[in-house]
Amino acid sequence: MKIKEIHVYAHDLPVRNGPYTMANAQVWALDTTLVKIVSDTGHVGWGETCPVGPTYCASHARGARAALEEMGRGLIGASLHPVSLRRKMDSLLNGHRYAKAALDIAAYDIIGKATGLRVAELLGGVAQENVPSYFATGVGEPDEIARIAAEKVAEGYPRLQIKIGGRPVEVDIAVLRKVWEVIGGKGVRLAADGNRGLPTRDALRLSRECQEIPFIMEQPCNTVEELAAIRGQVHHGIYMDENGEDLATVIRAAGTGLVDGFGMKVTRIGGLQQMAAFRDICEARSLPHTCDDAWGGDIIAAACTHIGATVQPRLNEGVWLAAPYIEGNYDRTGVNIVGGHIRLPEGPGLGVVPEEGMFGNPVLSFG
Ligand SMILES: [Mg+2]
Repeated sequence: MKIKEIHVYAHDLPVRNGPYTMANAQVWALDTTLVKIVSDTGHVGWGETCPVGPTYCASHARGARAALEEMGRGLIGASLHPVSLRRKMDSLLNGHRYAKAALDIAAYDIIGKATGLRVAELLGGVAQENVPSYFATGVGEPDEIARIAAEKVAEGYPRLQIKIGGRPVEVDIAVLRKVWEVIGGKGVRLAADGNRGLPTRDALRLSRECQEIPFIMEQPCNTVEELAAIRGQVHHGIYMDENGEDLATVIRAAGTGLVDGFGMKVTRIGGLQQMAAFRDICEARSLPHTCDDAWGGDIIAAACTHIGATVQPRLNEGVWLAAPYIEGNYDRTGVNIVGGHIRLPEGPGLGVVPEEGMFGNPVLSFG
């Protein structure tokens, strides 16, 4: 199967009860990019990429569309088989994996529709139909975050992620203590996500002063070097998120014992084909990880849930969706979190078919 047409759409996703606050950014609305591929067999597949603003990672919405414009013409007639497609994209543009991911996801959607298989089946097989999710709070004050934590545990989330950083570390320590006071002993796993925002000094103090609280520290500091510097001195597991930009970095982090797990984003690593390789590397070293993305609507949500469904349950740290922060869905049902879990969409393909015309006219078309 080959690519016959590519259409690119821009779509606005306002943040419900915004803003969403991280250590380095506040976002009120996200600019998502959707890709529709039509194959030479007449099948249609959808992909999506939605950076959570321009400062979370080295990606931004208009950059995604510029990258798609750069590759578009050269991809007409290209194979839809994911490895071949990735190599073709790499021959047209270096890097920009977050843009390539939208095309990779659309290719899986088409292959699924053409074969009658769900994307999770194409990715190796379903390990869990009801995929665990986790809830991420924004950066907030102790009482407010503890209230949200209690509410989300009651809803059935098996894991919570508390955002920290970008302010005096004493407040972050107070938040984690207050949250643990409320949810400790309830069997919920906890992550403290610094989003690159803590100096090593603060990461060390936070770990030292919260020794009794069993959270993992997700991307506390900005660089791989800073993670390595605190690695032997902290009392908590360390997960890599933002620094996990490609498989080469993942291999290094896993192979050198730099981390105890990953928060991984489907678009940052280049799409589902690269994500499946990442999953297998993690399984070889018993490293738990998430399968999610920084933001995005139902197409991204479906892609994350399909790969998340294939992860060995003991290593599955869950699939985070932006769904709780977004109004509406792309199709009648969408992908939703119920009781802290996500039901794998019925196939074939991604199992989400956007309403025709809901994204307006394409901003780019090829073929
Ligand atoms: Mg993170």
